[in-house]
Amino acid sequence: DNALLCWCRAGFEPELAGELNERAARAGHPGYARTERNSGYVEFIVEDAKALSRALPWSSLIFARQKLVRLADLRGLDPADRITPMLAALEAQAGSGLNVSMFGELVVEHPDSDEHKPLAGLARSFGNALRPALRKAGWLSKADDARRPRLHVAFLAGDHAMLAMSEPGDSSPWPLGIPRLRMHPDAPSRSALKLEEALLTFLDADERERLVRDNMQAADLGAAPGGWTWVLMRNGMMVTSVDNGPLRQALLDSGRVDHLRADGFSWQPKRKLDWMVCDMVEQPARVAERMATWFREGWCKQAIFNLKLPMKKRWEETKTCLEAFEYQTHRPMVVRARQLYHDREEITVFATPK
Ligand code: SAM
Repeated sequence: DNALLCWCRAGFEPELAGELNERAARAGHPGYARTERNSGYVEFIVEDAKALSRALPWSSLIFARQKLVRLADLRGLDPADRITPMLAALEAQAGSGLNVSMFGELVVEHPDSDEHKPLAGLARSFGNALRPALRKAGWLSKADDARRPRLHVAFLAGDHAMLAMSEPGDSSPWPLGIPRLRMHPDAPSRSALKLEEALLTFLDADERERLVRDNMQAADLGAAPGGWTWVLMRNGMMVTSVDNGPLRQALLDSGRVDHLRADGFSWQPKRKLDWMVCDMVEQPARVAERMATWFREGWCKQAIFNLKLPMKKRWEETKTCLEAFEYQTHRPMVVRARQLYHDREEITVFATPK
């Protein structure tokens, strides 16, 4: 069996398929995508899935919430005993790629789509049954071990499951690629979760320690009602929030937030800032161009911004905007882009000069 299996936001299968097609071909591993609209996943069939997986690091994929290498596609499973065929499928690959006790964790999941959500209960209970069986057969380490590869069982129906694996440093750490973030009762808007997820996704623990600190200076363009500003403020930053709309009063009362009723496309800071974040609802090309100006002029050290995607040709638009952004900064940049779980028709980008 040779395929990458990637989760995505339901409805964005064509974007993920386009991304995988193009990037796999460019990496010298051409293949083809199998997708169904609104299914929440894409299978990418390729001669050497492991090699392709290495060529497309998880952190570089934009529309994939998770990246798995498929081991087996098991159809017509008997609900009375799904475990025996799974163990047999693993056994069949023993020695050729799979080794006893190589897995440190079992994840039982299903695509995040209306069609597959009813499988959540099965996934939970099946995991509890399969885990001891895998330990007994020796596939799974005695205690969970976060450094070893994970074994995934993905249910597509009660009688259809895929076996797959992921590498801890090269995949999402969360089941279904979905972080469990709780909306804080004080947060002015649900958008706060987007910026929280962005900081967790784009920065590793060491970067968060270094780059997100007390008393850093930040600007938030398109800030109202203030969810992103609130996240920055809670991380101890001083924030200039630019928006013609109103901000939540509690932010203004904090003494850490300055509200400017100004146009986010023409406002510029007087001194270089640590952070600029931007969630303005505007044409993505226009936002990308303005973001590039900030780096070309050296107005901030790092930025997180959103690009709202159009209705059609969303993969093409993503590519065009990111290329234009990098080109217009006139300097080598680190750019990390992703459709986060909390992103809807948009992607989020982290950028900083190399
Ligand atoms: N990030 C915010 C939060 O967490 O609460 C939500 C931002 S909302 C999605 C988009 C905001 O962009 C709106 O408040 C709108 O007023 C603002 N906006 C749109 N165009 C703008 C512009 N040219 N200058 C400043 N703000 C703008």
